[in-house]
Amino acid sequence: MNHNFAAENLPTAEGGLYVHVPFCLHKCDYCGFYSEVPGQSSVDCYLTRLTGEAGERIHLPHPKFTTVFVGGGNPTCIGLEKLKRLVDIIMPYLPDKSALQEWTFESNPETLTSEMVDFLATLPSIRLSIGIQRLNDHELSVLGRRASMDAVNRAMDMVFSRVQNVGGDFIMGVPGCPSLAGDLHNLVEKYPFNHVSAYFLTVEENTPMQRAVVSGLLPDPADIDATELYETRDVLVASGFEHYEISNYARPGFRCRHNLNYWRPGSYIGLGPAAVSSADDIRLSNVADLSRWLTNEAPALEKLSQKDRRNEHLMLRLRLLLDGLDIVDFERHFGRQADEFYATLSGQIDSGNLLRYDSLVRLTDQGLRIADEVMASLFI
Ligand code: SF4
Repeated sequence: MNHNFAAENLPTAEGGLYVHVPFCLHKCDYCGFYSEVPGQSSVDCYLTRLTGEAGERIHLPHPKFTTVFVGGGNPTCIGLEKLKRLVDIIMPYLPDKSALQEWTFESNPETLTSEMVDFLATLPSIRLSIGIQRLNDHELSVLGRRASMDAVNRAMDMVFSRVQNVGGDFIMGVPGCPSLAGDLHNLVEKYPFNHVSAYFLTVEENTPMQRAVVSGLLPDPADIDATELYETRDVLVASGFEHYEISNYARPGFRCRHNLNYWRPGSYIGLGPAAVSSADDIRLSNVADLSRWLTNEAPALEKLSQKDRRNEHLMLRLRLLLDGLDIVDFERHFGRQADEFYATLSGQIDSGNLLRYDSLVRLTDQGLRIADEVMASLFI
């Protein structure tokens, strides 16, 4: 990576605005993300630098963001007053509220308060994404989550009485635990979620979970088969969700627009430690360290090669299970491919991992469980 950054290296990126809040009250046992415990002065310093970075990175006078995503970390752990200041920093960059299609806040259940939900409910196009992960106390404790089911239920009751557009994040493949599917079925029957994300647990380096797996206290999640994925998919589809991305489900009209822009792939600006900005073949990655970011350390600048962009396009489009990869569009961007590509594509179709309908290629149910392998076979 080249670290010589100048603001003009990033072409106008107006699709989505991502604001990373790098704070969590507590580290979950499986988490490999960078985060800090919030302190009064560290959050103040973060907000001051965020104001500066927004001014440097966002092209005025007429930014046209269609989506905003405030993620973390756990954005609501900084408290209501700081959250209001964060919103005040973002607001001037949304001059045309009618262009804004979606403004998401992530939150863990235990840090959401009634006053906070009241405040967030006043924001335009508000969408809440709640990090629930599992639906009983034992399974939450296996993950080292801070929330109990009491906190989850209390948060759900608060949120659904005031916000229309709500999503939940969940984890599958938790060692020694039953399938998520049954509990999830009960939850989506009780609360009107519009969106569900369900990812398989991966064991990250230097985490308590990795140590527990290495010492044999927990089975390795990598050995868990894909049955839970199909069971989870089946209950969500039966409840009216579309399985539109490998790990994401939405009721019709409620796909996450911010993430769709990543997957298409479109341009976006990221603010805060560890946030990434991207436009055309340029990618800027902010340093994943609050104190270094506070000193205005320049982001790493990467210029993607045509080969990287091609492979990324192919991978992201195949992840979109309903939209799929449009071969005509792919060739328009990246030219006619080598004969080997078409032969491999035909082979994957003949094996039942991909399905072709006109110019669209999609993963099949069978291909879903080996999606990484199928995609890698088409890379150059
Ligand atoms: S709340 Fe999320 S980001 Fe924070 S430690 Fe837990 S998993 Fe990691």
